[in-house]
Amino acid sequence: MICDEARERLVGQLRQLDARELVDVLREVLPLHDESEGSYRATLILAQATLWARDAPEEDHDPADLSAVAWPDRAYYGNRLGPDQGFWEDGQCKTCGLPVTSNAKRAQCPACGSACQLT
Ligand SMILES: [Zn+2]
Repeated sequence: MICDEARERLVGQLRQLDARELVDVLREVLPLHDESEGSYRATLILAQATLWARDAPEEDHDPADLSAVAWPDRAYYGNRLGPDQGFWEDGQCKTCGLPVTSNAKRAQCPACGSACQLT
C-alpha cells in the first residue's frame, strides 16, 4: 500500500500517457491480480465500453458493447506498441470467445493469452 500523495503522483503520471502507453503499463500490472481456484481463473483486464445514443440510426446493436482491450503483439511490431490509431481493431478470441479490441491487428487476449488476429 502506498500513501495518498504517492497514489496521486502515480495518477498524474498515468494521465500523461497516451492510450497505447497506458495499455502497455496496465499489461504489466493487471495480470498480477489473478485468482484461480478449482475450476476457474479470474484475472483483471482492461475493457472498452461503447455506449450508443438512443437515437443512433443503427438498430442492430445493443445499447452498450463491452470489449476486452487486447495487448498488442510487441514481438510482431518490433518491440513497439503497434499503430497509434485508437482501438479500431476488433474481433473475438478464438480460444476463450471474449470480444476483444486493440489498436493493433496482431494482439494477445488479456484473459487467456492467446494470439488474436483482429480486423
Ligand atoms: Zn482469450
